[in-house]
Amino acid sequence: MFNIFQRIDQISSLINQNKIIGKKISLVPTMGSLHEGHFKLIEEAKLHSDFVIVSIFVNKKQFNQKEDYNKYPRNLDKDIAMLKQKGVNAIFCPDDVEIYPKDNIISINIKDVDRILCGKDRIGHFNGVLLIIIKLFSIIRPDIALFGLKDFQQFFLIKRLVQEFNINTKIIGIETIREKSGLALSSRNLRLSNNAIEITSNIFYILSDIRKKIINNNKINIDHLLNISKKYLIELGFQKILYLEIRDEENLNLCIKYNPNVKYRIFISAIIEDVRLIDNYPIGEWY
Ligand code: AMP
Repeated sequence: MFNIFQRIDQISSLINQNKIIGKKISLVPTMGSLHEGHFKLIEEAKLHSDFVIVSIFVNKKQFNQKEDYNKYPRNLDKDIAMLKQKGVNAIFCPDDVEIYPKDNIISINIKDVDRILCGKDRIGHFNGVLLIIIKLFSIIRPDIALFGLKDFQQFFLIKRLVQEFNINTKIIGIETIREKSGLALSSRNLRLSNNAIEITSNIFYILSDIRKKIINNNKINIDHLLNISKKYLIELGFQKILYLEIRDEENLNLCIKYNPNVKYRIFISAIIEDVRLIDNYPIGEWY
């Protein structure tokens, strides 16, 4: 049976019925305009659970610019049609009033981690992300929830959220699904021209190049390497590189000097045609 619900009471009652008969429930939270990256999360969810719920909700609280929120692609009918083919058990697609019926007087407070990487220029973004995750987890009470590692900072914070708040949901991270060119799939790619799409394949090229250079020479000057890489991307036509940094996966501390025993990732955010793209790539030999 395929169920589509907009109301919390409807999805709650479906979940209760399935919990009673011992089904393991998984949740894949999305903002819609679904692509193969989302479908990979759904495939993994099916492997780990008996009942897969996909939520589709463009969460206004995580957009710090109204224009970005308004321009975010929305394709609910097409998403529903595709999810029908994917064998998910239910879609939860509430509207704004259902999720945010009145102004909150309680908010989330994150220490430091919301001021680095994507948090630096998206003030309040991760507060909004954690707010919607707490709401979705309270409504759906999933045994498992799956997230893409493309949004690594988000994944990191959600893992901390469940640890620190003793939330009984297992968080699974899924590596980034890419176009053949290496471009990370993203709903935001829909806003790019063909010319920009061609240029964006250089994001993955640069991430792979940095990784290779560091592995080949552990003593390389990281600051210099990142600076010339940023310059190269600007010359190719990116408007701005918001960040290009290497950080420790475990705590998101900045890497100044490479240590082969630490799991690092290279993180990037770049703007092209006013669209903000993000990506990251692990460095170590263990991948
Ligand atoms: P979004 O709809 O952009 O909020 O994404 C919903 C979920 O899909 C998040 O956990 C994302 O990290 C994940 N996701 C988005 N793009 C990809 C991708 N290219 N590969 C894997 N997961 C992804």
